[in-house]
Formats: sequence, structure tokens, C-alpha cells
Amino acid sequence: MPKYVYFFGEGRADGNAQMKGMLGGKGANLAEMINLGIPVPPGFTISTEVCRYYYEHDKTYPPKLEEEVEKTLSELEKTIGARFGDAQNPLLVSVRSGAAVSMPGMMDTILNLGLNEETVKGLANRTEDERFAYDCYRRFVAMYGDVVLGLKPQEKDELDPFEEILAAKKKSRGVSYDHELSIQDLKELVHAFKEEIGKRRGVEFPEDPKEQLWGSIEAVIRSWENPRAIAYRELNAIPDDLGTALNVQAMVFGNMGRTSGTGVAFSRDPATGEDVFYGEYLLNAQGEDVVAGIRTPQPINRRQKGNKDIPSLEEEMPDVYHQLEEIRKTLDRHYRDMQDIEFTIQQGKLWMLQTRVGKRTGLAALRMAVDMVHEGLITKEEALLRVEPDQLNQVLRPIFDPQEKKRLISEGNLIAKGLNAGPGAATGKVVFSAPDAEEKASRREEVLLVRVETSPEDIRGMNAAQGILTARGGMTSHAALVARQMGKVCVVGCGALDIDYKTQEMKVNGHIVKQGDDLSIDGTTGEVILGRIPTRPSEIVQVLIEGSKPPEESEVYQYYAELMSWADRARRLGVHTNADKPDQARTALAFGAEGIGLCRTEHMFFEGDRIDAVREMILAEDSGGRETALAQLLPMQKEDFKGIFREMGERPVTIRTLDPPLHEFLPNTPGEIQELAKKMALSEDLLRAKIEALHESNPMLGHRGCRLGVVYPEITAMQARAIFEAACEIAREGVAVHPEVMIPLVGDVRELANQRRVVETAAQEVFSQYGMEVEYEVGTMIEVPRGALTADQVAREADFFSFGTNDITQTTYGISRDDAGKFLHSYLDANIWEFDPFEKLDRGGVGQLMDIAVKKGRTTRPDLKIGICGEHGGEPSSVEFCHQIGLDYVSCSPFRVPIARLAAAHAALKERQEN
Ligand code: ADP
Ligand code: MG
Ligand code: MG
Repeated sequence: MPKYVYFFGEGRADGNAQMKGMLGGKGANLAEMINLGIPVPPGFTISTEVCRYYYEHDKTYPPKLEEEVEKTLSELEKTIGARFGDAQNPLLVSVRSGAAVSMPGMMDTILNLGLNEETVKGLANRTEDERFAYDCYRRFVAMYGDVVLGLKPQEKDELDPFEEILAAKKKSRGVSYDHELSIQDLKELVHAFKEEIGKRRGVEFPEDPKEQLWGSIEAVIRSWENPRAIAYRELNAIPDDLGTALNVQAMVFGNMGRTSGTGVAFSRDPATGEDVFYGEYLLNAQGEDVVAGIRTPQPINRRQKGNKDIPSLEEEMPDVYHQLEEIRKTLDRHYRDMQDIEFTIQQGKLWMLQTRVGKRTGLAALRMAVDMVHEGLITKEEALLRVEPDQLNQVLRPIFDPQEKKRLISEGNLIAKGLNAGPGAATGKVVFSAPDAEEKASRREEVLLVRVETSPEDIRGMNAAQGILTARGGMTSHAALVARQMGKVCVVGCGALDIDYKTQEMKVNGHIVKQGDDLSIDGTTGEVILGRIPTRPSEIVQVLIEGSKPPEESEVYQYYAELMSWADRARRLGVHTNADKPDQARTALAFGAEGIGLCRTEHMFFEGDRIDAVREMILAEDSGGRETALAQLLPMQKEDFKGIFREMGERPVTIRTLDPPLHEFLPNTPGEIQELAKKMALSEDLLRAKIEALHESNPMLGHRGCRLGVVYPEITAMQARAIFEAACEIAREGVAVHPEVMIPLVGDVRELANQRRVVETAAQEVFSQYGMEVEYEVGTMIEVPRGALTADQVAREADFFSFGTNDITQTTYGISRDDAGKFLHSYLDANIWEFDPFEKLDRGGVGQLMDIAVKKGRTTRPDLKIGICGEHGGEPSSVEFCHQIGLDYVSCSPFRVPIARLAAAHAALKERQEN
């Protein structure tokens, strides 16, 4: 026969921490604390089994339940020496819900259950404190009304009826705090609350404690099915049939005067991770008063109090504090993780009411994980799994001065919110164009580039700006993508911006922001704030990239470096980077990149006045004209490649031949066209006609990728020459360079064969000219479905594959990424998509194509090297998938390299756990 009710108290508990499935997290941990000899008010847990039974049996309880509850309740009465419903000496309890996983949106706790017109007098007599008794009573009636009888408002802007009555009472008495109300006031409140319940629900408030108890039990069980709880489970993939447990626990009272109180604390600092006790409490208060912000809570110890003029628990009740400090150590060591605890002090005696693993910042996660390894509490593997890869972002990004940010927000300067595309903090003067950004930055001004959206032409301006803010576009828009690669702070898709390029100003929710105004953006939260907030680069960047801080002076850096060294030992996947310039390569190397997985040659075309030569090439009448222009470009590209090879040394460098459609390099405003026509000594009409001819109705599917190289082989040839000449020249400097030429957008093996020939010819020419050879490889991107499906054929011509997951996502879904922003939100809202597939790899569709390509490719060439260079290469869940299908490496933007390293370690460790 199943057991439904589990007792805990008096140093004995039926359950333990392992029994979360039956007892829920709260119940299992209460039992565990009892087993550890920690003072916990006695009580019992009704198991999740009852909840499951209830829903499987037409909302009824198991027949034995009532008897078990009765039996355990009398055991509880004996333990406490008070009786439930007794007019002289009443036992009061709380009823608390608690599923196996913590679930916001479920039922709230009911305190002081068991009070009625009789028992309240008994409580008053026994405690000789009538005020206390009626304070408990009015709290209970309100909680019961809210939670069991459903008067708690469901919408944010609705008011709680009991709060309203309470507020009116305080106003009529001219007081501002609850504890300033008289006994008579409290009695009147109870009366008024009961009347309100009658008026709103047409029921009498139940005077019978047993009825109160069963009413509460049923309310908890029913809350499992309330819409908020269901929605939460759906969102977090929590099975619906887990069910909730519930706890009935003897009350302890923090509201018995100045020797009583209630508080919450963390066994380590949840913001910094330091091994110090951190918490807050309130004297003469009950339950959630601390978090409810009714009064300002007091710090738990002297350390935390600093120089504030407010007494700490350590000073007010030293004995209690020291006992609590012992308990924090016990729990922290026992659970081998930072604990979030609740406690209550009743007339100088300490009681623990909850413990669970606490939430933490990225910095705290990192620090605690490493510390706990050194303390011998956890293994390195556990430590790695305790830090979410994305949490590393928080320690890599520049940060706002927290005080100053708070101050500006409290003064009403938070004007809008967008998508947090590039985490970190940036502040500067607003400019609305890329040239303005460059121009101001060259005068050492700090600027924020604000655009409706960005395009490749804006790259230099973006680079010059402290941060980028756009009105349109999603997490994978051009702005977001480039920002991540550059490690720029970026907020995109901020719909509230109404930008007028002509007047150089924007309207934002009633504010006017002009060019030159100070603005701050927080790319970690998406907040847009008026004014300047001082920032500083993260310490890790100061050590690794700027070299402005010695490693031994930065604790954060040391924590980071240690954890990353463990990650590198645990992972199987290689981690490369997407970098187009030597400084990006250098940054990526400092972050631990092992190669370049994608160098986009076209980004170099926008440097300085190269764009002129590029345009000349595009506008040339014939291949002769093109070659003349290309000859100008060749030495420039060669220098770029040399710079990159020099940085990367022997590591592989994968360079992609020209990919975007040519019209992206041409101007489109009348002024720019006029200017270019003059420069090139062309008639404006002719130029316009050329631009017109290059226009495409669907550029994403147009003349781009290897299709350019097939039509204009001289472009591929020039790029290949530049690569090989650079390679030879650097090899002469004694560096064993390792170039890889990557042909984009291949859907047919013959496209690759065609381009491979061009590359090989160029290589032979360069090698004979230089009288030397360097090893190189030619491979392809797999980014259209046909390429994936015919990968066995493609592999005949490819030394390696690299998945371009941006394009293959576009082509698999048949959705243009740049246009997806228009309906993305509706898709997410309607639960058609659980996530943005341009951000996180779609395993079911796109992933299946990748899996096919891997398998087919390796049937032809078992040693085929395969990687990924799309934006997904730095996204943890996508990295995990890449591990699972057997890729050799992932490649991502420099600032995501550490995240990918950790994600790769997670993937390997999880695989080991499963086997
Ligand atoms: P939640 O799940 O929202 O944390 P809890 O069940 O922990 O809700 O309870 C809410 C508040 O009531 C907490 O501050 C808790 O410490 C307090 N509380 C719960 N049960 C008791 C009790 N038996 N005696 C005193 N305080 C209690
Ligand atoms: Mg709690
Ligand atoms: Mg592509």
C-alpha cells in the first residue's frame, strides 16, 4: 500500500533529500534538514502521489488519505503539545505547496491556519499577547481569502481587496506601518475581511479548522492546474504528471515582538560568489514580509552592514546569528552548493523553514564552482556543469557602474527596451550615421551608433562606435551578428525608436533624443537609458586583450582561466573563430581559439579606399577590365591575409571566397551615385543602368556564393593568388602556415570541382613563381539543402565541410532571415516556434540535413574534416548538437569562443554521464 503522508520533526523524518519526486523539493529538504539535526518546525508532507491520484480519479482523494492525515496530525499535536482547533491551546499550521522543481505561478503559502473566533482567544491568552493573536488572525483570513477562495488579483494592475481595506484602515488611523495599528483596529480588519469574502464570494469564512485544512489542501492540488502553472510547465518542458506535494507545518512566529523576526539568506554571496554569509531580516515580522518590501530589511552581519546606520542580526542577536552561521556552513557543505535559506526567530529561538540551491550571477557561478573544487566539495566535472556557458558572457562584457545606473533609472531615464543582442554596457553621444560615428570617434569622442537597421557599409562606423542601437531587426540581424563578432555592445529591434535621419533626431516614448545627446545602452538587458553612465571593460578583457592588468591582480581572471583549463581537457570539439582581421584574430586567440573557421574576404573590401577598386571591378565592361581592377585589389588582400597568417601561425585559417551579391558593394542614394560617377568618369545614367542591371528580386537566392566565382573565375583566381602569395611569404618568415580555401554555397559537386580547379591553378602558378610550396586544402560550405543531400558526391572534391547554418536555416525553412523579424514574434507567441531558429539550431529539420551531410560525406571520405561556421557555432545548445553528430570543430565570433569552449565541455560531459 502506498504511503501518502510523511512526518518530519523531533529529530526524525520519514523522508530525505533524495525523495524530491515524492515529497517535492521543499518537503524533501525539510526532511533532510531534520536528519542533519537542524531545528525545523515539525510537520508532514503529503506526497505528489495524492495529486496524481486526484486528477486520475475524477478529483477525489485516495480512500486512505484522510485517515493518514488524521493520524499524522495527532502525532504532530503530541510533538508540539497543542491541539488543532483547541480553544485553550490551539495548534496553528502553514500549508505550503512544493513540486519537485520549483514552480512560480503555483499556489501561495497559507500561514496561521487553525485560527477562528474561539482559538484566537486561546492564542491571545496563552501568549498573553492579544495584539499578536489578532495580527496572526487578520493575516490568515486575508491569505485564505486570497489563495483558497480566489480573491487574489490575477492582473498586475488590479488591487488585492484585503490590501485595499488595510490601506484604508491605516489611512483612517493616520499611521503608515501595520504594526502601528491597535488591537481594536486588527479586530475590525478581521471583521471587514470576512465581510468582503461574503460579499464577493457569497460564502461564510470557514470557522472549522479541519474545513480550513482540507480547503487549503485542495487549493494547493488545484493550483497544479492553474493556467499560469500550466504555461510555466510548457515553457520549461516540465511533465504535467509530476504533480505537486504539499507541506503542513507547525507555525513558528516571527511576529512576537522585538525578540522575533524572519529572514532570507544565502550560504555564499549570490552576486559575487564569495564564501561569505549574505542575507536580510526583519524584526517582528512574518513570512514574506522581508521580500515584500514593506519595511527596509536589515543586513544579517557587520560585514554586509558596512557603514550603514542600521543594526545587523549579528549585533542584535549574537547567539542566534552564530547558530545561523553554523547552519549555513553545514548546509553549504552538505549540499555542496550555495543554498538559499529561509528562517524565523521566535522569541530568541531560531527555526529553519527552507533550503534550496540558490540562483546566482555569472560571476558568482564561476567563482563558487572553482572555489568548491579547491574546498574538495565537488569534482572539476561538476564545477564545469555548474556554470552555464552563457553566464560567462556576464564576466566578459564591459559593465556599467551599478549605483549610477540605478540613480538614472530612478530619475525616469529608462526610455525604451529592445533585444539584448550584444551583452555589455555602452555609453556615448548619439549619432545617426556610420560616417558620423567614424568622424567623431577619430576625434576621440565616444559615440553610440543609432540606426533603423545596419548594412555592410556601416561596418566601419559600427567598429568606431561604443555600441549599436537599432530600431528594427532581430537577434540575428546584421547589426546583432556584426556586434557579436566585434564584441560590441548592441541592442536591436527597439521598436519604440522613431528615427528621423533628416532632422537627426528620434522620438522615443515621448522623449526627443538629438544627435550629440548622451545615451547609454545595456546590451545584457536591452535597456536604453538617457544620459551617461560610466563603464569599464571586464577584468578578463583587461588581462587577456588589453594587457592593462597583470593576471595575478585579477581574481576573476584567475577563476576564469582555471575553469577554462578544465573545460579544454573535458571537451572533444575544437573551437575556432570567425575573424576577418588580425586584431579580431588576436582577440580570439587570447580567448582560446584554435584556428579561424571563417574569414569573410568581403569584409576587407570596405576598408579605406579599397571599395573604389571593388566598384571598378564590378563595373568593368569585360574580363580584361575586371582583371585590371582585381590587380589593384590583390596586394591589399594579400597584406590582409599576411596579417592574419602571422597572428595565427600554424593554426588552420579557413578563408572563404567572395560570397555576397555584387550590388551590396554599390551605392544606392542619388548623392553617392553622383559622386561615384564623377570618380569613375562615367555618366550618371550609365552608372544607374549598371546598378539597375545588378538588381535582384531575391538577393539571398541570387547571384552570390560560388555562382559569382563560376561566372567570374578571375575573382576566385585573384583571391586564391592573394592567399597563396601571402602564405608563401609568411612561410618564408619561418611560419608553417595552414591555409584552407572555402567555396561558399555549393549545391552541386560540379560547382565545387569548377572552383577547385581555379584555386589549384592559382596555387601552382604562385608556387612555381615563388619556387616553394605550402600545404593547403580546398573545401566547401554546406549551406543549401542540395549540398547536404548530395554530400557523398560533394565530398569527392572537398577536403573539408563547414556548415553555414545561417544560410542552410534560411534555405531549409525557405525564410529570409532579414525578413523573418516581421513575423518571428507572432510565431513565438503562437508557440509555432519554441525559439528563433536563426539563433538556436533547429535540430529536427536543419539538424537532420546536417546529420545526413556528415554521414554521407564520411562514407566517401572517412577522414573528412567537418565544422560549423554559422552564428550557431557559439550558441550552447547548437554546440551540443554539433558534438552529438560528430563534428570536428565549431567556429564562432571571438567573444563567444570561451562560451563555445565551455559548451563543448558540457556536451562531452553530458554524453559521458549518459553512457
Ligand atoms: P514559497 O514557496 O513562496 O517560498 P513558502 O512555503 O516558503 O513559500 O512560504 C512563504 C513564507 O512563509 C516564507 O517566508 C516561509 O518561511 C514562511 N513560512 C512557511 N511556513 C511557515 C511556518 N510553519 N512558520 C513560519 N513561517 C512559515
Ligand atoms: Mg519559500
Ligand atoms: Mg552563407
